[in-house]
Amino acid sequence: MCFRLILITIAVTVVPIFVMRGTLLLNISDKLWSERVDSIERQSFFLAGQLIEQDYFNGENRVIVNSLIAQLDAIYDGRVIVVDSDYTVLKDSYSRINDKKVISPQVIACMNGQETEPYYDPVYDMVEIIVPVTGGEDQAVRGLIIIDASTLDLTETYGDIKQMSLWIAIGFSAILVALAVFIGRVFTKPFKNVARSINRISEGYFDEEVSLKGPAEIETISDAFNVMLKRLKELEDSRQEFVSNVSHELKTPLTSMKVLADSLNTQPDAPVELYREFMQDIVVEIDRENAIINDLLSLVKMDKKAGDLNISTVNINEMLELILKRLRPVAAKRNIEMVLESFRPVTAQCDEMKLTLAFTNLVENAIKYNIAGGWVQVSLDADHKYFYVKVSDSGIGIPEELYDKIFERFYRVDKARSRETGGTGLGLAITKNIVLMHDGAIKVKSKEDEGTTFTVRIPLTVAS
Ligand code: ADP
Repeated sequence: MCFRLILITIAVTVVPIFVMRGTLLLNISDKLWSERVDSIERQSFFLAGQLIEQDYFNGENRVIVNSLIAQLDAIYDGRVIVVDSDYTVLKDSYSRINDKKVISPQVIACMNGQETEPYYDPVYDMVEIIVPVTGGEDQAVRGLIIIDASTLDLTETYGDIKQMSLWIAIGFSAILVALAVFIGRVFTKPFKNVARSINRISEGYFDEEVSLKGPAEIETISDAFNVMLKRLKELEDSRQEFVSNVSHELKTPLTSMKVLADSLNTQPDAPVELYREFMQDIVVEIDRENAIINDLLSLVKMDKKAGDLNISTVNINEMLELILKRLRPVAAKRNIEMVLESFRPVTAQCDEMKLTLAFTNLVENAIKYNIAGGWVQVSLDADHKYFYVKVSDSGIGIPEELYDKIFERFYRVDKARSRETGGTGLGLAITKNIVLMHDGAIKVKSKEDEGTTFTVRIPLTVAS
């Protein structure tokens, strides 16, 4: 991330800085040299005017004009040559080729009235400019001025600018890259911390929290992460608790059976009646072990995922009638009256087997935790979205502070009573899981010694 940020910074800032510097330098060099050429041309035209005015080509006033030439020569640290229309040098400020002929393509072209471009010689760092001297009525070319001017000072100035701009560009680039590295560090550090924490959790250390300081967005991630971590910890704790509960619950019937069998073994002359009685007790324990294993299997199968549901169109009225019919004999044993109240016919898209198990658990509990001669009322209603099943009883009730607890696996308000009635402490956990798989909700309301009402809400159509 940091490396990529540096590359991006270089691409969007450093590269443009250098491109800009290049363009600027090109402009500056253009301007420097063209201004110098302009200035030399201006001076040359002035000199040309003087040459005509002073009648230089006819040998007049040469001293005055020669001093002008000397001045020009001094200003531009160069050489001034005046040529007449016969290409004969009338004046060479270096006095080397006086009276000689100067013939070159540019000189001829200029003499013929064509414009010539300044010629730049990078080896000697100078520029040569040829200016025609025109005069007379017909403005004919009477001669030429050839100026070779040094541009060494320009090259030096340009070199200084080039050097300075290079340092400025490097300085800026260094600052920008340093800034990118710094920002990269600041921004990636929290993410690295999160990654480290995730790795620690993957290794099994659930106790660590991440604390990220920085922009609000990063703190939000850290908070969300800690919430997730807390939930993971809870899940891990509950998993461990579940495993230890399962072992304990499965061991209890085994321990009882062992005690019964041992006591028979230590009494070689035990009467047959005792054997029979103990054997019956052992069968009860085996049934209990079986019940626990069956409940555990149903619980494990349900993973709160709607995808595992076996959806069909179910007549809920008939389903509840059947549940009550099956449980009526159990209720009759304790003289408990069972009533089904249907407000309307309800059909729903749901998993019939699972919902039958869920409601059976609720009605069984309503019978188990009831008083002899009490009542159980099951009611069914629906609106356009959900159907509602209420299971009320006139039983012992549940203290309000335990409303949440009773849905936990193996939780029982009164262990002895649950055991007596063959409970495993898993019924409500299974029921709740089934309801959640259907995207539904389950609520309990109770008053101790008066009764309990469980309300279940299930969507008429489960999104699968
Ligand atoms: P169990 O197999 O013990 O019945 P459940 O998970 O079905 O396990 O219920 C958990 C506990 O909730 C029960 O042990 C009981 O104490 C309490 N409970 C459940 N339903 C009722 C009810 N209708 N009235 C009173 N207590 C109830």
